[in-house]
Amino acid sequence: MTWLLIIIIIIIAPHSGDWLLALPIANCGLRLDDEAVRVAVSMRLGLALCAPHSCPCGGQVDAQGVHAMVCKKAPGRIARHQVLNGIIWRSWGSVSIPATKEPPGLVRQDDKRPDGLILIPWKGGKSLAWDVTVVSTLAQSYVNKAAIGAGTVAELTAKQKLRKYSNLTTNLIFQPIAVQNFGAFSSSSSDFISALCHKISSVSGEERETSFFFQRMWHCNDSMQFFCTTFSYQDDPDQ
Ligand SMILES: [Zn+2]
Repeated sequence: MTWLLIIIIIIIAPHSGDWLLALPIANCGLRLDDEAVRVAVSMRLGLALCAPHSCPCGGQVDAQGVHAMVCKKAPGRIARHQVLNGIIWRSWGSVSIPATKEPPGLVRQDDKRPDGLILIPWKGGKSLAWDVTVVSTLAQSYVNKAAIGAGTVAELTAKQKLRKYSNLTTNLIFQPIAVQNFGAFSSSSSDFISALCHKISSVSGEERETSFFFQRMWHCNDSMQFFCTTFSYQDDPDQ
């Protein structure tokens, strides 16, 4: 029942359904094959994804495939983060704002690196550093929080990121981009993406840039989640 509530909350979140609006153009990363679509739909509707089985890491994958999305050995999790970060990074290019990935030396006390930094001012004479985090909504540790409302897990994650990067040099704005794995962003992430896409629209003249952005985000996310499920089916991923 909790899962059903979570799913209803998330599928009505703004832009969570934009992946269904994408034209299936493979060269733009917008084409999912049939099995990837089955996984994407099953996850969003809480349907059985697979027969319960053992993951190569030793964990147990239930019928909804929750473990496959949080497995620390699944290569798709890291790839998902890199691909989603790449979408943000390329968006800066769309508005001719130079940006770099994983800049060193921004935190005085240690070697923590946010995912990216723009090299000219964004607001109030300050440039902006960002960091992307994708959280699995149905992970056991988040289920109760996720049932409260759309984006509650993303909000929690965004706060954790703000704490993590609280020691960034003072001439920077830090922007967490926190997203739940099949819908919903933290409020500041949504506001930031809206502002960025509005800027892209002002350059391209295309009013649907925000929807296009979310279409790319969700398709990359769903492709990588599909890879996570396929990893969990392997008997020995090293062979
Ligand atoms: Zn595993």
